[in-house]
Amino acid sequence: PKYVYTWGAGKADGDGTMKALLGGKGANLAEMTRIGLPVPAGFTITTEVCTYYYANKRSYPKELEAQMQAGVANMEKVMGHKFGDAKGFPLLVAVRSGARDSMPGMMDTILNLGLNDDTVRSLEKATGNARFAWDCYRRFVQMYGDVVLGVQKREGEDHEPFESVIEHYKHEVYGRDIIDSELSAEDQQELVKRFKALVKERTGKVFPHDPWAQLRGAAGAVFGSWMNDRAIVYRRKYNIPTEWGTAVNVQAMVFGNTGEASGSGVAFTRNPANGENEFYGEFLINAQGEDVVAGVRTPEPVSKLKAAMPKAYAELLKVRKTLEKHFKDVQDVEFTVQDGKLYMLQTRNGKRTAAAALKFAADMVKERLIDWKTAVLRNPADQLEQLLAPIFDLAEIKKAKAIATGLPAGPGAASGKIYFNADRAAAAAEKGEKVLLVRVETSPEDLRGMIAAEGILTARGGVSSHAALVARQMGKVCVCGAADIQIDYERRVATVKGQNFAEGDYLSIDGTAGTVYAGQIPTAPSEIIDGLLNGNKAAQKTEKFKNYVQLMDWCKKATKLKVRTNADTPEQTAQALAFGAEGIGLTRTEHMFFEGDRIDAMREMILAETQADRETALAKLLPYQRKDFFGIFKALKGFPATIRLLDPPLHEFLPHSKEQQLDFSKKIGVAVEKVMTRVHELHEFNPMLGFRGCRLGVKYPEITKMQVRAILEAAAEATKKGFKAKPEIMIPLVGFKKELDQQVALVHEVAAAIEKEKKVKLSYQVGTMIEVPRGALTADEIAETAEFFSFGTNDLTQTTLGMSRDDSGSFLGAYQETEIMPKNPFASVDQSGVGQLMEIAIEKARRTRADIKLGICGEHGGDPDSVKFCHRIGLAYVSCSPYRVPVARLAAAQAAI
Ligand code: ADP
Ligand code: MG
Ligand code: MG
Repeated sequence: PKYVYTWGAGKADGDGTMKALLGGKGANLAEMTRIGLPVPAGFTITTEVCTYYYANKRSYPKELEAQMQAGVANMEKVMGHKFGDAKGFPLLVAVRSGARDSMPGMMDTILNLGLNDDTVRSLEKATGNARFAWDCYRRFVQMYGDVVLGVQKREGEDHEPFESVIEHYKHEVYGRDIIDSELSAEDQQELVKRFKALVKERTGKVFPHDPWAQLRGAAGAVFGSWMNDRAIVYRRKYNIPTEWGTAVNVQAMVFGNTGEASGSGVAFTRNPANGENEFYGEFLINAQGEDVVAGVRTPEPVSKLKAAMPKAYAELLKVRKTLEKHFKDVQDVEFTVQDGKLYMLQTRNGKRTAAAALKFAADMVKERLIDWKTAVLRNPADQLEQLLAPIFDLAEIKKAKAIATGLPAGPGAASGKIYFNADRAAAAAEKGEKVLLVRVETSPEDLRGMIAAEGILTARGGVSSHAALVARQMGKVCVCGAADIQIDYERRVATVKGQNFAEGDYLSIDGTAGTVYAGQIPTAPSEIIDGLLNGNKAAQKTEKFKNYVQLMDWCKKATKLKVRTNADTPEQTAQALAFGAEGIGLTRTEHMFFEGDRIDAMREMILAETQADRETALAKLLPYQRKDFFGIFKALKGFPATIRLLDPPLHEFLPHSKEQQLDFSKKIGVAVEKVMTRVHELHEFNPMLGFRGCRLGVKYPEITKMQVRAILEAAAEATKKGFKAKPEIMIPLVGFKKELDQQVALVHEVAAAIEKEKKVKLSYQVGTMIEVPRGALTADEIAETAEFFSFGTNDLTQTTLGMSRDDSGSFLGAYQETEIMPKNPFASVDQSGVGQLMEIAIEKARRTRADIKLGICGEHGGDPDSVKFCHRIGLAYVSCSPYRVPVARLAAAQAAI
C-alpha cells in the first residue's frame, strides 16, 4: 500500500480533497503545488500509518521505510540538496503534524532537522553565513530536545529549561537581556553545546547525530502525540473521532532567518474579524517559524512588506487572488520569504466571526466567486446569534476586569446594578435603573425580575436551566452557573473570590462568552436588532443590516421547513414575526399567570375545595386570558397559534416561603395553616412525572373549559373585529387516546356553546403534544382524534432517557466526557433514541391521518443540528424562542440545500 504521498516542482500525488488520508495541511500543500504556487517540496505520511501504529503496538508497516527514502530522494532532486550532506548545502526538513484540522495538543513543528556537528559546518560554508547556520542548529536542538526528547519544564520550574539556558548565557556574556537575533554565531555555537549537555543531563541520552535517526524520531513523536492528554481532551470537546489519526508532513526547509531580505509571516486573504476585503496579517523580518506568534518581537502589519520587499509583496498579493479564486473561500496562510523569494507553507479556510462570515458571503456572491446557496451554507447557524446580540463598547471592554466565568446561556452584553430578588429588581427597573438580576438559580417566581432586567446571572444551573430557557425566549443576556459567585440573600451580597458586591453595585456580563466583569461597561444594540425591531432607519442603511436581510431572503428561497416561535405575549410574537416566524408553535399559558395580581386568582383556584369555588376563581382568570389571547391573535396577523393548555403541576404556583404564605393568606383572607396544608398536599416527590399536563384537565375539567373558552372567545372577538385568528388548541402530556378524547370532547362542547352564544362560526383545530413514549408508540390511535402533533422534545427527552432536565447537571458532564452521550440531549435532539421515537410516531400517525400537521416545540427547535434532523424526518415546522428564529431559519435553509 501507498503510505507516502509526495509533492514538489508543480506535481503532487495527492490533492485538496484527500484531507482524511493526508490531513488538512498535507492535502492543501499538494493542492497549492498543483495550482503552481511556490511550495517547498515534501511528502506526507498518511493517517493510515497512524492507525497502523496504534493497532500494532506502536510499530510501522514494513513498506514505510523504503517509501520515506523515495520521498526524501524526491525532495533532494527538486531542491538540489542532499539530506545529511556534510560537504555541500545539506537538505534540511521541517517535520509537521497534520490532523484534518490543526489541533492543539499535537506535536509542535520541528524545523531545521538534518543538522548535526558536521552538516552545520557544510551549511556555514555553503552559505557563507555562520550566524544563520548556527541559529538554525540552535533552534533545531531546542525544538527537538523539547518536543521529541521531552526536555520540558519540571514541577517547580518557572521557565522552559532551554530558555533558562539562553537567559543565563545572555547575562553571563552581555550582562543584559538582548534579543535572539543579536546573538552572534559564536554565541549560538556555545548555546548548542550547552543545550546538548542539558539534554544529556535530563534524559541520559546523547542528542542524535544521524539525520535519519532524527527524522524517524520526529515522525514517531507526531504519531505519539495523537494520544497526548491534551489532544485527547481537545478531541472530546470537539467531537473528533480518535480513529481519524494524524498525518506527518516532511517538507524541505526554506529560511526566513538568513538576514534582512528574509522573514516569516501569517495572513488572512480578508479581515476575519469584520469581513473587510483587505489583506490582513503580520510579518517578521529575519525570523523563522513560530517567532511571529511567539510575541518576543512585535511583528509588522503585512502591508509594510510592500516597502521592505516589493517583489515578494507583489507576488504575495497575486497568490492571495489565486488562492481565493481557487478555494472560493477566505484563506488563512503561512509563508516565508527567503532572500526576497516567496514560499507558501500552508493554507486553510480561515476561521471567522459571525460578522465576517456574513460579509464574506455577501461580497463573494457579488464578486461571482460563489452562488447564493453556497453563501447560505457559509454562515454557521450556531454563530448567527452573535450578530443579534448587543455588544460591549470595544475600547471599554479592554480595560474591564473579568472576575468569574459561567455558561454562555443568552448571548450579548449587559451591564447594570445587581439585585438579588425579582421584586426589588423590578422596582429598580421601574425607576429607570439598568438592572442585572443575580440569583443562585431562578424559578417561575422570578419572571417579573427577569423581564425587568437587562441580564440574568446565576450561580447554579446549566444551559437548559430555567434561567437559560427564559433568557433565550426573551432574548435576554444570560450567564448561568457561574460557580465562583457566592450569594448571600440575607445580607444581600455576592462574593467572588473574596471581593464583595452589594445590591446596587454594578456588574457586567458577556452572555456570548460567559464572562462576568466587575463594574459598568457601556453597551450598544446590534444594527440588525435596531433595524428590524426598532425600525431605526440609520441601522437599516448599514451594510451589515442589508447583508443580513439578503441572507434571510436567500433562506426563504431555499427552505422547506417553516419556522414558528414559542411566545407568550404580543411583544414576543411581534418580535418573532419581525425575525420571519410564520406563526406560534407554542404558547405556554401558565407563564401568563405570573403577571401582576393574576397569581392570586390562580392560587385561589388551587386552594378551592369544591368545584363551585374553583369555578369562581377560574372566572376571575378568564378575562385575563381572553385579553392575552386576543393580543396574541392580533399580533399574529393571520398566522396560526398553537396554544397549550395548562401543563405544570399546581404546586409551582403556590407561595413557598413562610413569609409569602403569610402575605398571601392575609390577602385572600384564609388561614395560613390552610395554605400550608395545601402546599404540603400538593408536594410531589417527582413532579416531572406527577400531577400535570392533561392529567390536570382530566381531574378538573373546569380548568380546561375555562382556558378553551378564553381562547375561543378571543378568536370570536378577533373575527368580529375583522381579522383572522387561527387557534390550534394543544393538549399536553397525552399518552392514551382516551385522555385526548375526553379533553377534545370538552373543547368541542365549549366551542358549540360559544358559537351559540355569540352566533359565530369558529374555526380551530385540536391536537396534542407527543412528549411521553407511550404517546409516540400509540400515535396511530392518538391520530384518530388529534388533528396535529407537536413534539415536545423537552419532556420527550426526559421521559425517554429517564433523566430529569433539572437534576442531570450532576452527571451530564461526565457522560459527555466519556462520550456516552457526546452532546447534551436537552440542547440537541438525541437522534438515535428520542429521534427514533419521533420517526415511529410520524410513520404511525400518517397511517391513520395522512395529512396530519407535524411540528416540534421543544428547546431543540432552535438548535441547528436538531433543525436539520427535523427537516430530514419531514416535519412541517420547528418552533423556537423569538431570538432563535433567525438561527432556525438559517439551519432550515441549509438543510434544504
Ligand atoms: P502549526 O500547525 O502549528 O501552524 P506548522 O507545521 O504550520 O505548525 O509550522 C509552524 C511554522 O513553522 C510555520 O508557520 C512556518 O513558519 C514554519 N515552517 C513550517 N514548515 C516550514 C518549512 N518547510 N520551511 C520553513 N518554515 C517552516
Ligand atoms: Mg501552521
Ligand atoms: Mg412538556
